[in-house]
Amino acid sequence: MAIQNNQNLKVLIVGSGLAGLTAARVLREHHAVTIYERGGVAVATGGQGIMIAGNGNRILTPLGYEGEGARVGGVPIHRLRMFDDKNHQIQDTVMDLKARFGTDILGQKRSDFRDELVRLATAPSAELGIGGEPATVVYNQAVVGIDPEEGVVTFGDGTTAAADVIVVADGIHSRLRPLVAGEGAPKPQKTGHLAYRVAVSVEAANRALAEANMKPPVWWRPEMFNNTTLVLNGPPGSCRVAMAYPLRRNTYFNFSCIMETRVSSRRTTESWHADGDRDEMLEYFGWDEGLKRILGSATEVKCWDLQDLDPLPTWTKGRAILIGDAAHAMTPMQGQGANLSIEDAEALRLLNNEHDAQGTGAKVRREDVPAILRRIDSVRRPRADRALELVRATHGRFTGHSKYEDKSDFFMGYSGIYAALAEKEKGAAKHGEDK
Ligand SMILES: Cc1cc2nc3c(=O)[nH]c(=O)nc-3n(C[C@H](O)[C@H](O)[C@H](O)COP(=O)(O)OP(=O)(O)OC[C@H]3O[C@@H](n4cnc5c(N)ncnc54)[C@H](O)[C@@H]3O)c2cc1C
Repeated sequence: MAIQNNQNLKVLIVGSGLAGLTAARVLREHHAVTIYERGGVAVATGGQGIMIAGNGNRILTPLGYEGEGARVGGVPIHRLRMFDDKNHQIQDTVMDLKARFGTDILGQKRSDFRDELVRLATAPSAELGIGGEPATVVYNQAVVGIDPEEGVVTFGDGTTAAADVIVVADGIHSRLRPLVAGEGAPKPQKTGHLAYRVAVSVEAANRALAEANMKPPVWWRPEMFNNTTLVLNGPPGSCRVAMAYPLRRNTYFNFSCIMETRVSSRRTTESWHADGDRDEMLEYFGWDEGLKRILGSATEVKCWDLQDLDPLPTWTKGRAILIGDAAHAMTPMQGQGANLSIEDAEALRLLNNEHDAQGTGAKVRREDVPAILRRIDSVRRPRADRALELVRATHGRFTGHSKYEDKSDFFMGYSGIYAALAEKEKGAAKHGEDK
């Protein structure tokens, strides 16, 4: 049902990544939303994959996201097969995620997923069947400073813009984080792992195998890999694992090849769009000739030193709030960084005048904003801190087994900000009774 176009608050979002774009979609029906992005239109659209799980999908679908539709071609993943370095299958698990959480995990090309989020943030309201106005994205406009109390952002050329709400979604290396969380706030730290990331076309990989007169490895057949996550463990003790899953209607495969940095000779780099060294990737992950050919068929190799962020003392100050990796960066060992970012964005619903602070349905006013942001922080930050603990617990025991120990109730069972607040209030009431 379309709501009235009332453009209540002025919202400025810093960063057009997955968090910023989702936040724009959540807020655009009610407020005037502008995103400032330091990069160009094609920013952050590496061809590699991303897995959006039940917690992300259940939030995005009612917002108009068509993960399995023609545009995105997301692949439902409902099976996990694990192999040792000799290609012996050592685990085959059918995942009942749809029955438990209402949706499968969807494997998607990162660029397809981001394009869909851009659509949700900026398409005409009539196309989405909603009220309000589309968000505006201003590319090539870096934000260099903010005044969280006054609600002012400052750009590289010294000009400024005023806002009622500032959503800081500028990623793991957030420049603005200290202005919200304090100058002493933690900074991201390398965890001692690196990930080579490639998206392989199934057709190109098959061609590479045929040219080498090789039979495909046992796991590289449609009946083995369609709708399946493959976990390929390296030689025992090597601490190397390749995680693979299908994208774009099973026509592409994402490989995240993860190893410990201490055994690598590569130069480290801060950018997660940095090109990786193909030869080094093949040296470390070519324990099987077939795997080597398949990885070698990728047109682009990216490499990223895995990093995470210690818990922050706060995500909010005045009328500014941190979301996404700026608030809670973690390694991809559970494939949850983006999903938690989508959860953060959904929590901004509290700013929509569908539910004001008193539950009267009145419009949220500028003066209400700081208290609403603190309310969001009170449930989002503890959840992200717990998520970080769970993800970090898998770092030391580094095999495919640890990644898929079942933590899905915690991650995929999340049901949005209102349920989280109700849970917190129930906990507080119980604590009061127990005293
Ligand atoms: C190898 C790997 C695999 C992953 N796989 C998964 C997965 O399967 N599932 C999952 O849920 N998560 C996954 N993640 C995590 C996920 O990618 C991140 O959590 C997610 O991208 C964070 O989104 P974000 O919007 O916070 O940050 P980003 O996507 O980094 O976006 C930040 C944006 O802000 C812009 N920006 C930065 N500074 C400024 C500034 N000063 N002014 C204006 N704009 C600025 C940047 O250009 C960028 O566009 C993976 C991560 C890695 C490294």
